[in-house]
Amino acid sequence: LDGKERFMHTSMCEDVCKTKKVKELKTIDANSVTVQDLEILLETTMYHGFPIVSDDQLNIVIGYVSRNDLIRALKCARDKHIDLVNASRVYFTDGLMRSNAGGGPISVSLGKVVNHDPICIEPKTPLAHTIDMFTKLGVSQVLITNRGKLKGIITRKDVLRHIDYLKTTDNGHNLF
Ligand code: ADP
Repeated sequence: LDGKERFMHTSMCEDVCKTKKVKELKTIDANSVTVQDLEILLETTMYHGFPIVSDDQLNIVIGYVSRNDLIRALKCARDKHIDLVNASRVYFTDGLMRSNAGGGPISVSLGKVVNHDPICIEPKTPLAHTIDMFTKLGVSQVLITNRGKLKGIITRKDVLRHIDYLKTTDNGHNLF
């Protein structure tokens, strides 16, 4: 994906997307997530990042956080705030530490490490355009959305894998 050759194939980004069901996506629900939820997510998955959605059902994308940034931010919050507990709520809006009005556990904001405007494209976007985004914008992943709702994710490697796949099939002629 160096942008030197023009990709000619008619694939659309939904053809590249590995996660055929939205439920398979590991997302972060911004309205209900705790420190422990995030730590478990990091322990049980190896993805390079996670879309942040406003609601588990609606799946409206409100951001994206990379795995490394999330690990660093959680560790930093744990070190800095000794009263942070497993049940502490995590917010992804900007702002500092907040204490719960009801006297429950303190909460923490990790908004600073979130990309609040991740690149989103429609399922029917031609792969050629998607490749342009990867090469020109230098991103490692794009989210697939329909009317703001998360439908999938495509990484740079997914695109490379798809191109390799096309090369091995009859459709492999005239890719570029
Ligand atoms: P890479 O494709 O560079 O190995 P990842 O490890 O992040 O990057 O992704 C591995 C696979 O999982 C890819 O096919 C990608 O589309 C998919 N994927 C990426 N992030 C998520 C996620 N949060 N939930 C579910 N699948 C994901």
